Amino acid sequence: MSGIIGYVGAKNAIKVLTTSLEALEYRGYDSAGIAYLTCNRIEIIKTSGKLQNLKNKINYSINTNIGIGHTRWATHGKVNDLNAHPHKVGKFTIVHNGIIENYEALKKILTKEKYKFKSETDSEIIAGLLDKLYSEKSDILKVLKQIKKLLAGSYALAILCDDIPGTIYAIRKDSPLIIGTSDNDNFVASDVPAILKYTKKYILLESNEIAEINQKITIYDDTLTPVNKEVLTFDGNIEDAEKNGFDHFMLKEIYEEPKVLKQTMAPFLKFGLESLINEMPDFTKYHKIQIIGSGSAYNAGLTGKYLIEKYSNMPVNVDMASEFIDKKTLLDKNTLVILISQSGETADTMAALRKAKEITNTLAISNVLSSSLAREADNFIYTKAGPEIAVTTTKAYLAQITVLSLIALNIAYKQKLLTEKKVYEIIKDLEKLPKLTKQMIKTNYQDIAHYLVNYPNCFYIGKGIDYTLCKEGALKLREIAYLNSSCYPAGEFKYGTMALIEEGTPVIAIITDKKIANKTIKNIEEIKTKGAYIILIVADNIKIPKNITDKIIKIPATSDFIQTIIAVIPLQLISYETAKLLDRDIDKPKNLAKTVTT
Ligand code: GLU
Repeated sequence: MSGIIGYVGAKNAIKVLTTSLEALEYRGYDSAGIAYLTCNRIEIIKTSGKLQNLKNKINYSINTNIGIGHTRWATHGKVNDLNAHPHKVGKFTIVHNGIIENYEALKKILTKEKYKFKSETDSEIIAGLLDKLYSEKSDILKVLKQIKKLLAGSYALAILCDDIPGTIYAIRKDSPLIIGTSDNDNFVASDVPAILKYTKKYILLESNEIAEINQKITIYDDTLTPVNKEVLTFDGNIEDAEKNGFDHFMLKEIYEEPKVLKQTMAPFLKFGLESLINEMPDFTKYHKIQIIGSGSAYNAGLTGKYLIEKYSNMPVNVDMASEFIDKKTLLDKNTLVILISQSGETADTMAALRKAKEITNTLAISNVLSSSLAREADNFIYTKAGPEIAVTTTKAYLAQITVLSLIALNIAYKQKLLTEKKVYEIIKDLEKLPKLTKQMIKTNYQDIAHYLVNYPNCFYIGKGIDYTLCKEGALKLREIAYLNSSCYPAGEFKYGTMALIEEGTPVIAIITDKKIANKTIKNIEEIKTKGAYIILIVADNIKIPKNITDKIIKIPATSDFIQTIIAVIPLQLISYETAKLLDRDIDKPKNLAKTVTT
């Protein structure tokens, strides 16, 4: 997902814009640009490629106190300098996140009116339309109100108008925007990390509002009446958004996992069972749970299904958001829909939320308190992993499965399938999780990475809940190491896929459940005879026959309930070390956006 920043204040705008764009880099982008006001005119500098390309073109000595900036994630039109934002048409300069669905129809109308467009983007049309409406009305607020009715699709927009030189206007629909504020500076940005160097104070802009940002901030509602907005304070700190000596954000975020586990669990375990019950909705009101997510959040949902169904009598179905939105739904009021998204802005997940809300109650699990998902769902659980800057998720995913395991515990207790004593035992085990994950973080995974880099294909196998972790492990390896990896339930491998095993093909297997260990061991033995190189991640109380593994990673044996969660760490670190050896752009892997808003 691309990023937006706008700045008005006492500082040099070019400096602020480029610094803030750096802080937005993690969201993924293919081009960058800025527009600023100097000597009464707007200047635009933009280029495809990395932010450094843009910085190379910038003259930092120019005096300017107002401007807007953008990192683009192309959806309409190639990645090139012309299509990069900002776009200026007539008196209007804009940066846009999102997609304008009716841009072709609007373009036709505007072209008839002699408007000419330089780019292939949907975004440039917005600038043209603003200019046309303004030439008819010359009242900017009325124009912004009107354009909201004319644009179909999603947008976050920061807008400069030649006639109103000291002001930035901002509007949004289905793409996030916040308004930042401090004593001498005001901002508009796609999210809080963009402004953290300057301020922690921000206002949430809603879809029905218009922001006017100059020396002061005025937010208008849809009747164009100024409204009072609450100024929020970001509860993390700037270190959360900085690397702090780590080579990559991804590694830093993996190292934060023990702390994250504590933070995520704290509200639900603070007063033992009382918190576990009171801090969550009443799941037992429902007959069924439907979980929805995309990418790693979907994988977390699968793990959640295994945990909930293992410990309680609650049936759980899991769907990918992109599939759920277009298929026939058999939901009814007796089903609770749980939607999982790190950012809480994933477009498919948001669409799924809206579809589900028409039928039944919804619960959002998200890492962003102010996200659209958190605000629009009927209930919300906050994963509290802190800002996740690496595009690939680690700590937020771990927090998601932790929350799902607490949900499993909650339901099992309420359904009287676990006694109070047993729940307290499990809570004790959960409290050990941070220490046990720390131990796994310290383990060395480099020799495994050295092996994996030599093979274009890698397989992950596991049974039951271990299979759901394999899905996440395989996704991580594709995402950041760009190695082809696929994942199978261990017992399913022999139905065809075995044909792909050649001498040396790496197979990563997971066994955390002692009860079904023998079955997976049998599957491994068979795969091994075909020449596979077996890397086994296994609980250290499970006996493994000699000669069936080539590398073995032992995870400390603990209760079933948390055993699997610990196995996540090796999977994340194996991918990290492999991507590092291959010299990949680990924090900003290619073709992957932090928040998929399209
Ligand atoms: N749809 C616009 C484009 O392709 C904006 C994409 C974005 O960066 O969000 O230029």
